[in-house]
Amino acid sequence: MGDARPATAPVLVAGGGWAGLSAALTLCRHQVPVILVESARQLGGRARSVRSGERILDNGQHLMIGAYQALLTLMKQIGIDVDAAFQRLPLTLQLYRDDAVSLRFRAPTLPAPFHLLGALSAARGLSASERLRALRFSRKVTQLRISAAEDFSVQALLHSHAQSPGLVRKLWEPLCLASLNTPIDLASARLFTRVLQTLFSGSRPDSDLLIPRQELNALLPRPAGEFLEDHGAGVELGQRLTGLEIDAQAIRGAIVGGRRLAASHVILATPHSITRRLLSRHPVLQPLAARLGELGHEPIATVYLQYPPEIALDPIMVGLESGLAQWVFDRRCGGQPGLIAAVISGRGPHQRLPATTLIDAVVAQLKEHFPHWPPPLERRLIREKRATFCARAGIDTWRPANRTPVAGLWLAGDYTATDLPATLEGAVRSGNQCALQLMQSLSETNVVNWVDAHP
Ligand SMILES: Cc1cc2nc3c(=O)[nH]c(=O)nc-3n(C[C@H](O)[C@H](O)[C@H](O)COP(=O)(O)OP(=O)(O)OC[C@H]3O[C@@H](n4cnc5c(N)ncnc54)[C@H](O)[C@@H]3O)c2cc1C
Repeated sequence: MGDARPATAPVLVAGGGWAGLSAALTLCRHQVPVILVESARQLGGRARSVRSGERILDNGQHLMIGAYQALLTLMKQIGIDVDAAFQRLPLTLQLYRDDAVSLRFRAPTLPAPFHLLGALSAARGLSASERLRALRFSRKVTQLRISAAEDFSVQALLHSHAQSPGLVRKLWEPLCLASLNTPIDLASARLFTRVLQTLFSGSRPDSDLLIPRQELNALLPRPAGEFLEDHGAGVELGQRLTGLEIDAQAIRGAIVGGRRLAASHVILATPHSITRRLLSRHPVLQPLAARLGELGHEPIATVYLQYPPEIALDPIMVGLESGLAQWVFDRRCGGQPGLIAAVISGRGPHQRLPATTLIDAVVAQLKEHFPHWPPPLERRLIREKRATFCARAGIDTWRPANRTPVAGLWLAGDYTATDLPATLEGAVRSGNQCALQLMQSLSETNVVNWVDAHP
């Protein structure tokens, strides 16, 4: 364990998702030489935009909240105007049952935690007793500390706090699926509690919804790539890392695009399934690879439907109580009026449906909720089978640290031990922490203290 060797060659970051970008940017900002290699032809990983005919679509609707501090800080550090990048809305939940609103919950402009307590007290669609139960639970949840080893399901958590089936269905289950992408009977109470604590204990702007005004590529991957290149870092697209060279429990280099690159520090910012494969070839890393094998996956399917531009949602994100899609987003804010993104989070029988059947089912579901909408003009389905790790109870016992048993080999990604579910904030935090630890290990032997030299 541990590492104190100077970086004689640039640090090699493999993977240009938001974790790899965050690691590379942190190193670059501290003037540590860095090369980022990405197997795809573009940066962004699971949070990227793709071309679909004439239009650009995100590979899935991404929502951020005001508590994404690591992400917002990173964006500011590379000169992005975050106020212009996002539309900021107070936390608002609106659910439909058939064609009527069944729950409305909107945080008033009060200081925390009164904004959310106020929202719960005034929530439309909950009975007086449900509001009281929800209020009691939201107060208690801020005090809860659940260890990784003693974790249990969100369903058990809600049951033990007397949350009625209606309350679970209308409020907690949609929130759990949106934040953990894992069904409540499996989902980790520890991680869900962390999410609720962020919402209920943080400052009021922490719970704000941040809706990107641009496509994902423009939000971070493209400006990040430009920043890296402008500051002397190498960015190589279409370059896959296929092997690691390890000798005497230290990294010596890697095989990238068929070439051998010498490296005394490598950050693997690849998805956990790829990382596992790369690690499992080295006996010293097999126990770590076996842990990654426990993380599993949950899918997300996004059905994009283009309606005439006058079709709009108010608020721009609504939940649906029944049917395949749980959340529907109006992409008007991203400059795409009439474009509706219907999101199906987590596993289910829908995974086996052919694309056309799945799209038809979602179109029919939207027609039930919004009977006045005309048929969509265009339709497109994007399925991400491995959207997130499975945030099941006890998952945090398997999530690895950034440091590995091989000197100079580091891990970054949303799946590392960040205390958060698989999110952009988790990915950015992981990359940043990984880079800071790497620089700390360099400074132990180098004259330059990277961290202090460039605060
Ligand atoms: C549809 C969908 C919706 C989501 N919604 C939200 C949301 O609303 N809010 C939120 O916060 N999060 C959301 N997430 C989660 C978020 O996108 C991820 O947590 C985050 O993007 C993970 O970033 P990462 O860098 O850890 O991994 P990745 O994005 O997977 O990056 C890994 C990179 O490594 C590259 N790579 C793979 N193999 C190699 C190799 N051998 N050599 C070199 N490069 C390689 C890949 O191409 C990829 O670019 C969503 C995810 C999906 C899929």
